[in-house]
Amino acid sequence: MFKKGEKMALAKSLKMFLTIFVATTCIYMVLYQYHLSREPITQPKYIKPPLYIITPTYRRAEQLAELTRLGYTLKHVVNLLWLVIEDANQTSPLVIHTLNRIGVPYEYFLAPMPDEYKNTKKAKPRGVSNRNRGLDYIRANATSGVFYFADDDNTYDISIFEQMRYTQKVSMWPVGLVTKFGVSTPIIRNGKITGFYDGWIGGRKFPVDMAGFAVSVKFLHERPNAKMPFKAGYEEDGFLKSLAPLNLTDIELLASNCTEILTWHTQTKKNANASPLNLTLHGDTNLVSLNTFLVRT
Ligand code: UDP
Ligand code: MN
Repeated sequence: MFKKGEKMALAKSLKMFLTIFVATTCIYMVLYQYHLSREPITQPKYIKPPLYIITPTYRRAEQLAELTRLGYTLKHVVNLLWLVIEDANQTSPLVIHTLNRIGVPYEYFLAPMPDEYKNTKKAKPRGVSNRNRGLDYIRANATSGVFYFADDDNTYDISIFEQMRYTQKVSMWPVGLVTKFGVSTPIIRNGKITGFYDGWIGGRKFPVDMAGFAVSVKFLHERPNAKMPFKAGYEEDGFLKSLAPLNLTDIELLASNCTEILTWHTQTKKNANASPLNLTLHGDTNLVSLNTFLVRT
């Protein structure tokens, strides 16, 4: 047992030890706060390369539904500019309203299909004017990053956007629900492209789907004449050929070396135009307001 004097001495040194400990901790905290306050405001060390998503759209009953679905997918992706380009002669307040609601950074342009293609009985080159207008925007405004043609009716897993973002030249990956084969993809053997799997080859050098490739902005700038031809069925092939020189060995394979499906060529069932609203019956109801949100051709 300790004697009374020893106890007091022990308590005293314990008190002293605690005082020194608390004081040192406080001094450190003050110094650390001072150090933090002197640090310059840190910029993010690494900003991801920008993505330009070119989306052709056109007036039809499903239009706002398609743009809503795609827009909220794109909302999960950072540093992205959505280039929405409508095949029309006049802007659509309903499209603008929808884009504003979604809140993804966007630009909205018009690019009508030339009459000679619009009035043809043959298959139309759908979305070509729109995509070429998107390319013009990129040539005039973008210096780095990657662009991708995302039709308004297709379906996209957001991980493909993070993968395509780092494309150096041209990247490719499989697209589900295309032709009778169910998938369109480069065929990979020992890590290399040995051909293309697509239900319709049609003599194409690059028999791929619009949803299955992305291109670097720098690569486009180095090819000032690259554009998409008005040739139904050959839009992808014509555009990729216009990017020459482009060898199969230049193509970067995404979706785990083309073993996963992250984009789908979906098609929405066509819907008839809504019948006109009978104002005599419903003129004093909510149907008047709802009617203003229905797209008719
Ligand atoms: N598109 C267009 N004008 C048209 C038809 C289609 O701008 O007259 C757009 C459409 O919104 C889509 C793309 O072009 O983003 C491809 O059209 P669609 O989905 O009809 O073609 P598919 O996928 O069936 O080949
Ligand atoms: Mn489509």
